[in-house]
Parts: sequence; structure tokens; C-alpha cells
Amino acid sequence: MSDLDEYRRAQRSLRRVFDGLTATLCPDCEDPCCRVPARVAALDVMIALAGGWNRETVDADPVVMALDQASYALKPGEEAAALPCPFLKADGCVFPGDLRPLECSAYVCKYMLAAMDARQRAHVRRLVADMRRAHGRIFSTFEARLRRRSRESKDIA
Ligand code: SF4
Ligand code: SF4
Repeated sequence: MSDLDEYRRAQRSLRRVFDGLTATLCPDCEDPCCRVPARVAALDVMIALAGGWNRETVDADPVVMALDQASYALKPGEEAAALPCPFLKADGCVFPGDLRPLECSAYVCKYMLAAMDARQRAHVRRLVADMRRAHGRIFSTFEARLRRRSRESKDIA
């Protein structure tokens, strides 16, 4: 199984645990979490595209949108506007259900945490660790390819 397949499998397993909780908790949430600055990185967009995501589901370049979210960290105070995440549409997150951004997928809000028992928490911790390991391997592959391309360029220069 490829790293991408393992990443997707861990995301699906996590979703199965979370779906039961979010269906009950999210509709009446007083402090929704899919807001600016969203936890979306350019690598999340690249992974979703590699997994076949149709980027036409958003109106702008999704990598630029992800970089915009990251840049909020350099603009303290702007997140106070609490705008909805630009990847959130009327029927939910536009990313595939098993290729959501890593930090969105790993996020357990205080309401979900309170609703889980000790066994569920331990299960979620294991699944998040599996997901992070698969993501780490994908990142390493991406970095190694970039380095190899960089070396090839130097050989030519
Ligand atoms: S903070 Fe928790 S309950 Fe509220 S919208 Fe987000 S996941 Fe749902
Ligand atoms: S990318 Fe998706 S899961 Fe993450 S904050 Fe935006 S809408 Fe929510």
C-alpha cells in the first residue's frame, strides 16, 4: 500500500469515529472551527491534487488560498474577523473526505473531547499518530524529489 493510500485510510478511520460526534455537536456549535485562519498548508492541496481532487470546486488557485491562510500567522489580529474558511461551501469542506488538510483532520475540539470516553480518545490518538506518520513519509518523498531535481540542475549549470 502506498503512503498516500495509508494516509487516506487513516483519515477514513478517523472520520468514522468523528462523524458520529460531529453530526450531533456541529449543527448547534456556538464556536465553529472551520474559520480563518484555517489549518490548511500548500502541501495539503498538493496531496489532495495527487489523490485526484478536482480543484475546480474552488473559485481561486487553492495553493494561493492555502498560502493566504498561512500568512495570517504573520498578521496578528486579522483572524479576529472570524470569517468562514474559504474551503468551506454550503455542503461542507470541498476537500475529499479522506484527503482533508492534515491539521484539520487531526483537530479534536473541546466539545468532541468532552464527548469521547477514554477508549475512544486512545483510539483517536493512535489513528492521528498513524495519519501523521503517513503524512511525514509523503513529505519526505516530496522533499527528496525536490533535492534530486535541485542536484540535477546543478549538474547542468
Ligand atoms: S468546534 Fe467542534 S463542535 Fe464546533 S463545529 Fe468544530 S468540530 Fe463541530
Ligand atoms: S479546509 Fe475544510 S476542514 Fe479545514 S477548516 Fe476549511 S472547511 Fe474546515
